[in-house]
Amino acid sequence: MSTQIVCWNEQCIYYKKLQDATIHKFGFSRKGTQRYQCKNCKKTITETKGTIFYSKHYSEETIIECFKLLANNNSLVSIERSKQVQGYTILLWLKEAAKNKSQASGLLAQHNFTENEISRLWGYLLKQKPK
Ligand SMILES: [Zn+2]
Repeated sequence: MSTQIVCWNEQCIYYKKLQDATIHKFGFSRKGTQRYQCKNCKKTITETKGTIFYSKHYSEETIIECFKLLANNNSLVSIERSKQVQGYTILLWLKEAAKNKSQASGLLAQHNFTENEISRLWGYLLKQKPK
């Protein structure tokens, strides 16, 4: 299993360290998301933390909506305007997501993204020229 669940407690020695043995499954959240617990500091972690859907400033919903718009050929500029999220930020999320495409695709599929939409998202990233 290649889960990327890490401890997010800054005081913990396993903070952001990929140490599978320290994280174990710990029931589910009310929304049905798998939860985990760090054996060291006993803090619980939800599955979306540390994935593309985790952002300090935006909700999972917002991220999904931006990806959805992008997958349906809306320009970054128009998404910027309708969602009040900077295009640059959306691209960062997409780049983060692309680091683990299989995990991200799975999560997107759970949010009713079609295969076409998912491949358009990755395609969008390929079209970006480094500045
Ligand atoms: Zn910990």
